[in-house]
Amino acid sequence: MEQNKRVVEKDAPPKKDDLLVITGAGGFIAGNLALYFKKKGFTRIRAVDKKPLYEWYLRVPEAESLSLDCSEEANCRRVCEGAIEVYNLAADMGGMGFIERFRVECLRSVLINTHMIEAAYQAGARRYFFSSSACAYNTLLQQDPKVRALKEEDAYPAMAERGYGWEKLMSEMFCQEYWHERGLKTFIARFHNVYGPYGTWDGGREKAPAALCRKVIEAMDTGRKEITIWGNGEQTRSFCYVDDCVAGIDRITHCDELIATPVNLGSSELVSINELLSRIEFIAGASMNRKYDLNAPQGVAGRNSDNTFIKQALHWEPDVPLDEGLAVTFEWIKEQYHARKAGKRIGIG
Ligand code: NAD
Repeated sequence: MEQNKRVVEKDAPPKKDDLLVITGAGGFIAGNLALYFKKKGFTRIRAVDKKPLYEWYLRVPEAESLSLDCSEEANCRRVCEGAIEVYNLAADMGGMGFIERFRVECLRSVLINTHMIEAAYQAGARRYFFSSSACAYNTLLQQDPKVRALKEEDAYPAMAERGYGWEKLMSEMFCQEYWHERGLKTFIARFHNVYGPYGTWDGGREKAPAALCRKVIEAMDTGRKEITIWGNGEQTRSFCYVDDCVAGIDRITHCDELIATPVNLGSSELVSINELLSRIEFIAGASMNRKYDLNAPQGVAGRNSDNTFIKQALHWEPDVPLDEGLAVTFEWIKEQYHARKAGKRIGIG
């Protein structure tokens, strides 16, 4: 069906005392996002997560931090009250180990976006950001480690990752229709494997970079220099450093050409999991014996981000080199590991 094109009305850039709402802020990316906006000079940030406050990785000083479940409609109304911009990053998620095992939990995150976008709309928010994922892409295009990088149009015909990927596709659709039907300016980024400090590194929800850093740190600590890799290690991915991710969220959300248009937010530097481990070993100054668990969850064979569209729209793309980002991440996880060993309370996800 032919859509009538909406006229994009220009609005003023956000003022430093505009209220920004960020959900999922007790977690990894949204915590870093709240810190990013704070450093940019925003004085009114409402950070929300269902986790109790003591489990948050980052508590941004002077932000209003709320522990609320955003899958409940009434909570979302409270959360969005007075908001000028809403960044919805809350989701029940984790690495492959989590999303292959807990598909129902992943699907239920559709409640979060459903209630958050309606509450943002009712509150008269000017902009709404949704964190989608490369897991929304058609899995049939990701069956070879030497993959062609994924372009935005590769999500359809749809054959997303079961559970998690379908929830993202459905929530993207909500964002698109809230723009087309109701005129709420929505923005959608498909993140590709984000890593960095203040993220989950243990407990079952961690992703490959954090898991491998922790395994190397553990092996060095215990003297058992053996590491188990999930799969044969030949599966490939690109990894995006969290500073690039939060800067990208800001750029995307303030670019009117990208309204209601999913865009890749990822690095295009493709590495295999074996190569990722080698780079971590180099940072650690250690070498491990590798064992391979071919029955462990491993996701698609290969996945990379095609950045043609984001470069064209923003004249920018994520560019923190993997080695640089990994070095910072490794140090942070090492600190956390030793703090926990010393009996200190730390958030692990
Ligand atoms: P994370 O698990 O560290 O953060 C998500 C946070 O959402 C958690 O702290 C969790 O407690 C919170 N949450 C879950 N359900 C909630 C609810 N009902 N109400 C309020 N808070 C709730 O994950 P992350 O890596 O920071 O991911 C942030 C977003 O980015 C998610 O939407 C995720 O799907 C998406 N994403 C992340 C990656 C990645 O590589 N990290 C890749 C693709 C997409």
